[in-house]
Amino acid sequence: MRRKNTQCKIQQNWFVFAALLALLAGVALTAHRFYHAENAETATPNDCFAAAAAQNPALPKMVCLTFDDGPSKNTDAILQILDENQIPATWFVCAQDANEAYLPKIADILAAGHQIALHSASHEYAKIYRSTDAFWRDIAELKDALRPYLDPDALEWLRFPGGSTNTVSHRYGGSDMMKRLKAQTEERGLHWIDWNVCAEDATASHPNAAQILRNIKREAEGRDICVVLMHDTKATGQTVQALPDIVQYFKEQGYAFCTVAQMDAAKNKAE
Ligand SMILES: [Zn+2]
Repeated sequence: MRRKNTQCKIQQNWFVFAALLALLAGVALTAHRFYHAENAETATPNDCFAAAAAQNPALPKMVCLTFDDGPSKNTDAILQILDENQIPATWFVCAQDANEAYLPKIADILAAGHQIALHSASHEYAKIYRSTDAFWRDIAELKDALRPYLDPDALEWLRFPGGSTNTVSHRYGGSDMMKRLKAQTEERGLHWIDWNVCAEDATASHPNAAQILRNIKREAEGRDICVVLMHDTKATGQTVQALPDIVQYFKEQGYAFCTVAQMDAAKNKAE
């Protein structure tokens, strides 16, 4: 009887332990999802820019490969692939603690003929979308971090963290936050651009290279002008793995590769 009791207790303890483990796993998963919800891009493509360009039949098929949140430990590998293919790309850069050590790569990106554009210093939605002042303070911080490598006041392009149609900003700065920021961006003589093809490479599901390629092919289908959102962070090594096939795909489909500024220039010329 005593033995049975002990066994029962052991079983009970195991049950409590297993329940605790499940709870902890649940907490960890929720925290992970929350991290991505806060830090990753929201899947809110806005193709206003691309749609406007696509309506002009004088334009060739064009693709802008864009990398957000870099530079990172993966920047060199991306540069190498672009160099092998002799194609340009655009980086929307950050200056977070996580990528600060890689900021000198900005000089390498520029030297290779690519475009650098503004994204965010901190990339923390709660901080940057608290108010329009907070947003521009963050951009000023980013410019200061970039100053050793380029003239930040010469940068003309900006991509809003989460995109211009994100709803996460409503939580912190009100439902008209993006409308006000877009107007202020234009008042400051800056251009902003979203994307119309999303690699979905910075999502909580951590897709592999094959999935990233599939995501891009699916969204590029039927579009003459593609602005492809990818990421250059320590967590997006699979993007690097997929990149040669992504480049190959757009080459086979007859697209010309260009930076965002080059695409805009082509668009303006054709008008
Ligand atoms: Zn971003």
